[in-house]
Amino acid sequence: MSNKSAIGEQAQERGFPVGKLKEWIEKGHLRYDENGRLILGVPVVIIPREDLAEIQKAAEEILGENGAAVIMYRAGFKHGYRHAGIYKNNFGLEQFDILDKHLSVTAATGWWGKHEIVEKSLDPLKVVIRFYNSIAEEWKGTDRSVCHIWRGVIAGILTFIAESMGKQVKIRCYESKCVAKGDPYCEIVAEELFEVKK
Ligand SMILES: [Zn+2]
Repeated sequence: MSNKSAIGEQAQERGFPVGKLKEWIEKGHLRYDENGRLILGVPVVIIPREDLAEIQKAAEEILGENGAAVIMYRAGFKHGYRHAGIYKNNFGLEQFDILDKHLSVTAATGWWGKHEIVEKSLDPLKVVIRFYNSIAEEWKGTDRSVCHIWRGVIAGILTFIAESMGKQVKIRCYESKCVAKGDPYCEIVAEELFEVKK
C-alpha cells in the first residue's frame, strides 16, 4: 500500500469525505463531457476557496456586511430548497435523509473538512450542525460570522422538509459559532419559529 492511499484511508476513517470523491471518479459521476465541461450531474467548476470568499468580500465592500449577508443567504436558500426537491423527487429521500445526503455530497466538494449533526428533531423542526475547517477560514481574524450561504442552504432544506410534512412554518437559521471569529468550528442552528398563515 502506498503512503498516499494510506493517508486517504486515514482521512476516511476520521470522517472526511474522501471515499465519496473516490467513488464519483471510479463510477464516472465526475467526468468531462464531449465538449470538455467538467460534469458532476451538472457542469461544475473547481476554484480556490479564496476566490469564492473574494466574491462575498467584494459584496461586503460594496453593499455592506448586512447587504452581502442577505444576498448570500438568499442564494443559499434557493440552492438548498431546489436540491431538497431533487433528492426527494429523483432519489425518493424523505425528511432528514435529504439533509444527510446533501451534506455528504457538498462535503466532498470542499466546503469543509468534517461535519456533524449534534441535534436533530422533526417536531418541532430543529437541527444543530457543526462544520470543521469550513471556508470561513478565509476570513480568519474577523469578529463576526460569515457563513450566510450555509445558513441559507440549511434554511432552504428545512423549509422544504417542513412543507413536505404539511407544515407551513418560518425557519429561523443563525450561526452560533464561526471559525471566522476564532471559534473551533462553525455551528449553524435552524429551527421552526411560527406558522405562516396562508
Ligand atoms: Zn462559519
